[in-house]
Amino acid sequence: MKISITKSFLPSQKEYNRYLSKIWKNGWLTNNGPLLKELEERLKKYLGVKHLFVVSNGTIALQIAARALGMKNEVITTPFSFVATTSSVVWENCKPIFADISPDTLTINPDKIVEKITPRTTGIVGVHVYGNPCDVEKIKKISKKYNLPVIYDAAHAFGVKYKGKSILNYGDISTLSFHATKLFHTVEGGAIVTNDDELARKISLMRNFGQETPEKCTAVGINGKNSEFHAAMGLCVLDKVGSIIKKRKVLCDFYDKLLAKKDVVVRPKIRIGTSYNYSYYPIVLPSEKILLNLQQALNKRDIFPRRYFFPSLNKLCYIKNQSAPVSEDISRRVLCLPLYYDLSKSDIRKITDVICESL
Ligand SMILES: *Cc1c(COP(=O)(O)O)cnc(C)c1O
Repeated sequence: MKISITKSFLPSQKEYNRYLSKIWKNGWLTNNGPLLKELEERLKKYLGVKHLFVVSNGTIALQIAARALGMKNEVITTPFSFVATTSSVVWENCKPIFADISPDTLTINPDKIVEKITPRTTGIVGVHVYGNPCDVEKIKKISKKYNLPVIYDAAHAFGVKYKGKSILNYGDISTLSFHATKLFHTVEGGAIVTNDDELARKISLMRNFGQETPEKCTAVGINGKNSEFHAAMGLCVLDKVGSIIKKRKVLCDFYDKLLAKKDVVVRPKIRIGTSYNYSYYPIVLPSEKILLNLQQALNKRDIFPRRYFFPSLNKLCYIKNQSAPVSEDISRRVLCLPLYYDLSKSDIRKITDVICESL
């Protein structure tokens, strides 16, 4: 049996069908329908945030966020993330300026942000990578001092709390991805979160072509809407998200236990004060050569970890001459091990046995 990096959580077909019956009864398929509204209300409550807009994916969430905050010219961001964090900034006609990461938490290093600020800087985009919060307090101070808006790409951080409140309350806007591979998903989807009423109004317009009503257009917008079918999946998965996170904790604890004696396997440090969501299980190895050998050994046994995140984003083909030595080094040595709801302890034993033999 093949073990992949992830496997999407699927609710029972019976539960999904219960919502589908509502769609057939309502005859309402998309455009801010009743199920989408229900999902938004329940997400706001579950996550503890003021405004939340479900959109078609996590990338459009980032693009709308950058627009709503007037980002242009230079935007300071992290080189250690999924490619969409950078591509969305470039797509919005901004130049990403990479501030390197901290080697222990793998999140953007606030001191490096300050070094990169110029008169052309219009904002900061951080990532709570693997669900590990950025240094939100230091970044808040920088944001105030230099008057720069902050977006947090929280695609990995669903349900994460920092010092007792949702991590999504930090920064001007946080974005989420509800892609099928994420901890909470709507097949495809995402959300934009803010506590600012004025920003919320802008975002809500931008998501819907800039139209306030069908005959009144008050801004330039795009189609960022999501459908009732996606909302239905979200409502089913949301019912289970508590047990999904609990199960992932059990699995991560088991990995920890079986890898405890392998001190060549280093784990990123979760920021103190974090209530974590166990969204990924990254390990940092001593060298790329060791990583490649391990990956090959695992593949031979039908186990497929992923090089999240490789390459470092400052090395993308459309980025010219920017260096980020810590991110480049870590991205060559980091491997995410399989982690998903249906993974069993015996699967983990099989995976860690290969790791212990190979290292
Ligand atoms: C998944 C992901 C995205 C993109 O989300 P989509 O919903 O796939 O568009 C953006 N940033 C990060 C860090 C991600 O992991």
